[in-house]
Amino acid sequence: MSLLSDWFSNNKTSEKTSRPVLNEILETIRESAIVVGRDTRIVACNKAAYNAFARKNGELEGKRLSEVIRDLHLHEAFRQALEDGKISDIELEILLEKLKYDVHIAPIEIDKSKNAVGIFYDVTQIERLEKVRQEFLSNISHELRTPLTSILAFVETLEDGAIKDEENNQRFLGVIRKNAQRMHRLIDDILELSIIESGKIALDAKNVNLHNSVDEIFTNLSGKAKERKIKLVNEVAEGAFVFADAVRLEQMLTNLIDNAVKFNAEKGSVVVGLTRKNDKDFISVADTGEGISADHLQRIFERFYRTDRARSREIGGTGLGLAIVKHLARLHGGEVSVSSTPGKGSTFSVELPQISPKS
Ligand code: ADP
Repeated sequence: MSLLSDWFSNNKTSEKTSRPVLNEILETIRESAIVVGRDTRIVACNKAAYNAFARKNGELEGKRLSEVIRDLHLHEAFRQALEDGKISDIELEILLEKLKYDVHIAPIEIDKSKNAVGIFYDVTQIERLEKVRQEFLSNISHELRTPLTSILAFVETLEDGAIKDEENNQRFLGVIRKNAQRMHRLIDDILELSIIESGKIALDAKNVNLHNSVDEIFTNLSGKAKERKIKLVNEVAEGAFVFADAVRLEQMLTNLIDNAVKFNAEKGSVVVGLTRKNDKDFISVADTGEGISADHLQRIFERFYRTDRARSREIGGTGLGLAIVKHLARLHGGEVSVSSTPGKGSTFSVELPQISPKS
């Protein structure tokens, strides 16, 4: 790697040529650069700084830094650069706009006078992703620990003598099996979600007979529906097609219909339908269950978000089903949405473009 200054001198570039090139580079970079003079007034800034800080504050040149950015650490760092020639790196948080910057502050000399420059790296997105990653890890650990604790407790009980207790040992083994299966399902869903999210799966989209697909899913879930006396209604016209990857479509609809059965009222119904609007197909899954209140509704597609964590676990949920549906719908160039009336039921709708999705 050669430094720009070396590159200019190796190529014998004259000051006259290199200066506009450097200016151009400075105006093109995404990082904001602000130069402050001895009186802490802004002397110059690049385009990125103007876009980041001037929209609200008007022109930057001539303003005091404190009028533009109110942050004590930032001012102290600039003061030390100006007075003591100190180089520093600080974190800057602009609370109102929820922005975060890593700022590098250093002294620079312009026409023999002391100035200081601050380079602002916007780390808002990186921080946000890091927070999501940490939350995800902590959720996974928590979700795995619960069944694991239960398995260990029942194994200990059996070891302590319950193995000889003819009345209860089979029941304890059943609990162990149930919890192990839950961990298995959870790990399967986590792996599935991470593959889908990485975008590494290739869709094999073609015309799929939706009526037949829904019938097949109903057959697979009929046992569960029967247990709760839930009527499964396929309102998709015979011979109706949608353009999708058959396996992924089945996965999306299975998750939605399974939820519609699980969260339904006893003797309720699940109705699957298809409507077409503006070159788009909308597959709806409507239930007659407890519904979802408005505050939960907007978070329902987040990973591990559940309106009732304990209940979801009890009925075998992982909290990842809807996140998987969301990512699969998007992979198809579509979306998933929900509307709900608490006490009456919910309708989930998968929107799919009728044309071939971009891949
Ligand atoms: P889970 O494994 O818990 O079903 P999902 O991601 O599929 O995870 O769903 C997340 C949560 O959304 C559920 O725990 C439940 O609180 C709510 N939910 C999903 N579908 C329905 C529905 N049809 N009716 C009411 N609540 C639902």
